[in-house]
Amino acid sequence: MNSYIELNKISKSFSLNKKVNVIKKLDYKFKLGKIYSLMGPSGSGKSTLLNILSLIDEPTSGQLRIHENIVKFQDKESNDLFRARNIGIIYQQNNLLNDFTALENVYLANMASGENKSQSILNAKRILQSVGLSNRINHFPSELSGGEIQRVAIARALINEPKIILADEPTGSLDINTAKEIFKLLSEQKTKDRIIIFATHNRYFANKSDCILEMVNGNIKTINARN
Ligand code: ADP
Ligand code: MG
Repeated sequence: MNSYIELNKISKSFSLNKKVNVIKKLDYKFKLGKIYSLMGPSGSGKSTLLNILSLIDEPTSGQLRIHENIVKFQDKESNDLFRARNIGIIYQQNNLLNDFTALENVYLANMASGENKSQSILNAKRILQSVGLSNRINHFPSELSGGEIQRVAIARALINEPKIILADEPTGSLDINTAKEIFKLLSEQKTKDRIIIFATHNRYFANKSDCILEMVNGNIKTINARN
């Protein structure tokens, strides 16, 4: 059994004016070596689920296990370190720190996992080169195109060789050709001991995943599991 992430009756509600149950007693197991797409209309809970998986948001009830360990959401410090070392996160927008160059954005993520500065810089240069950005390393986010920003975001997500990559509509703000390039780069990051989960509205990209998950009524419906 290589189910690395296990959701056990996970629920998440928000109460502003009235209580909204976004995720309802969700059970699911994510396996290493697979790429999952997460679909569902806006407001169906895709980001909520990804925020729980990234240990940013605490579920209202239920258990999350990663690598057999039950996540204790109150242990913020150790969860922050676990996230830095094991989870790469890519958002649709605002991925980068605007006052830092591409190189700094990437190497700081490496230092956050405990690597020393000079090694982090070397690692960041190598990984930025691998995503095709060696001639943009000293550019600030405002000097980069949308596609280049997402490449930096992918480099930053990869720098600590994470077991888990979570991407929340990573191509949602890009034109279709750039979106295809970024999706290709993301899917190339699949390895046998990594899980990639990406939220998307694009059925063409979703169909290229190993497993399409659709959020329906606070739960996951598996549409297509290749195995
Ligand atoms: P999706 O990513 O599928 O578009 P979200 O997970 O962002 O959906 O949102 C699911 C529902 O939860 C929405 O109705 C949204 O308004 C609500 N929601 C999300 N985050 C919060 C929050 N911090 N406070 C209150 N409601 C929230
Ligand atoms: Mg969302």
